[in-house]
Amino acid sequence: MYKLTGDFHTHTIYSRGYKKKGTHAKGTIQENVEAAYRLGLDTIVLSEHGPGHYLYGLRVKDLPQIRNEIMRLREIYEPKGLKILLGLESNIVGLDGELDIDDKIIDQLDILLMGYHYGATPVGFTDAVGLYWTTQIGKLIGSREDHARDIMTQAYLKAMERYPIDIITHPGSKAKVHIREVAEGAVKTNTALEISSKHDELSVESLKLIKDIDVKLYIDSDAHEPERVGDIVKGLNKALEADIDFSRVQNMIWED
Ligand SMILES: [Zn+2]
Ligand SMILES: [Zn+2]
Repeated sequence: MYKLTGDFHTHTIYSRGYKKKGTHAKGTIQENVEAAYRLGLDTIVLSEHGPGHYLYGLRVKDLPQIRNEIMRLREIYEPKGLKILLGLESNIVGLDGELDIDDKIIDQLDILLMGYHYGATPVGFTDAVGLYWTTQIGKLIGSREDHARDIMTQAYLKAMERYPIDIITHPGSKAKVHIREVAEGAVKTNTALEISSKHDELSVESLKLIKDIDVKLYIDSDAHEPERVGDIVKGLNKALEADIDFSRVQNMIWED
């Protein structure tokens, strides 16, 4: 039987943008960690939204506090067998694959996630047209959708080349990509793709399309409240339906 070993994508009250704490994601770091411990997981990743997201993003000035809280909890939970990692779900904000973080932030992280979200501030006007206008408007008028898909795919590939991204979250959700090209780029750069339990992608259809590509996968919760930490039912069902090779899933192990 395959068993979940870790949840590599969870949010806390620090994902808040300019809003009050707790209006986007509900739990504290400690609550997510406690939930993971109760489930018997080996690893929990705290991965707030990147600072470029004006509604949900982490405030950079909160990072030391988050780090300290994680250090404090490590002393309690690491001897009990739970690894606590500081991650970040950075935003892709440029056509050239630019992310909303710099090396100073990356150096503080244990693991780097990256996703595309509406509401992350684009780097420049051209990028705004390319990534945001095209993808949104493309949906309405149809004819530009292929163009938008090409643009997003190239941006993802460039981001993987430029940054040490460990996991791409919900690839293809919110903006479509050529998933085979993204998966091939991910293999080359040793990046994993996420089977989201919150968003549609990777979908059963996408998983079938990349079945023959040996890309690493994670099935994560993308929990925005402690009750959902480790809840990967939706992702797991998609993986089962697509009949993927579970040895590719990095956060599951086989146990007799
Ligand atoms: Zn996301
Ligand atoms: Zn997320």
